[in-house]
Amino acid sequence: SKDQGRNTYTFYTHQMNLDMHRRLKVEEQLRSALKNHELSVFFQPFVDIRSRKIIGAEALLRWNNELLGQVTPDEFIPIAEQTGLIIAIGQYVIQTALTAASQWQTYFNRQFKIAVNVSPKQFRESNFVDMLKVSLTQYDIHPSTVELEITEGVLLNGDQIITHNLQAINDIGVSISMDDFGTGYSSLSYLRSYPFNTLKVDKSFINDITVDPGDLELVGAAIAMGHGLNLIVVAEGVETEEQYHLLNALKCDYGQGYLFSKPLPQDEFEALLEAQIKV
Ligand code: C2E
Ligand code: CA
Ligand code: CA
Ligand code: CA
Repeated sequence: SKDQGRNTYTFYTHQMNLDMHRRLKVEEQLRSALKNHELSVFFQPFVDIRSRKIIGAEALLRWNNELLGQVTPDEFIPIAEQTGLIIAIGQYVIQTALTAASQWQTYFNRQFKIAVNVSPKQFRESNFVDMLKVSLTQYDIHPSTVELEITEGVLLNGDQIITHNLQAINDIGVSISMDDFGTGYSSLSYLRSYPFNTLKVDKSFINDITVDPGDLELVGAAIAMGHGLNLIVVAEGVETEEQYHLLNALKCDYGQGYLFSKPLPQDEFEALLEAQIKV
């Protein structure tokens, strides 16, 4: 009826107001988050599937704001991206992650991999690769220990600067990983056209491999295809022993997920590394 229609309309505008209000608040607070030291980087280990040993970590942003509390990256990263704040924030993540990696090199006398997420706007910056090079030199990090995780969004409308940056990154020996593999429309053609080293199978596929034969089939095919293309294949979102055993049987290379560890503050991640090295 007409009335219902009007109510629905009122409901949506009210909700939209709330969303807009929240968004503006998040944006306002995000503008001063860096200089107020509200952002930090957590580290989630990824393991070699066969040995279950930690071989590296993914750097993941965390934001704790006095007014808003803990805000998730899924909420604030898109806002950082739209406002351009991601440039400074992304630089902070790279510097923090490389600082940590250089400390691990010194403490543990071995090289752990460090994976960093890079967003579309960040990747399109003309000086992105120069900034990366400077940081690698500054923290004395071997380029092969660094991996940049990009999603299809980075490659969308692939133009000169994208191709140029990917090639330049590949040339300095930094790895490139396709994140959230399987969720987009064009992953396959991108894999063919760009110099990827790693493929990260999205956690939505891993989630049901023990119960959904179709998903198991897809993950098996993704692993086989990745290997056929000489890529390292990582499964994200591994939560159970059953999933782990299937991935091991499918010869998946690396795994990441709550089964091994949730993302941790740097000191807790280092305690894990230390424990692993002792045994
Ligand atoms: P992502 O790159 O796909 O990162 C993996 C997400 O899965 C992380 O969420 C991680 O905490 C979560 N995760 C890890 N293991 C499990 C598991 O076993 N089960 C489940 N259900 N989830 C698991 P988080 O930290 O909330 O980050 C969400 C997204 O925000 C990331 O997805 C990434 O797209 C973005 N993000 C986080 N940090 C950064 C950053 O520094 N820069 C950029 N550009 N994006 C970031
Ligand atoms: Ca990622
Ligand atoms: Ca992912
Ligand atoms: Ca994701």
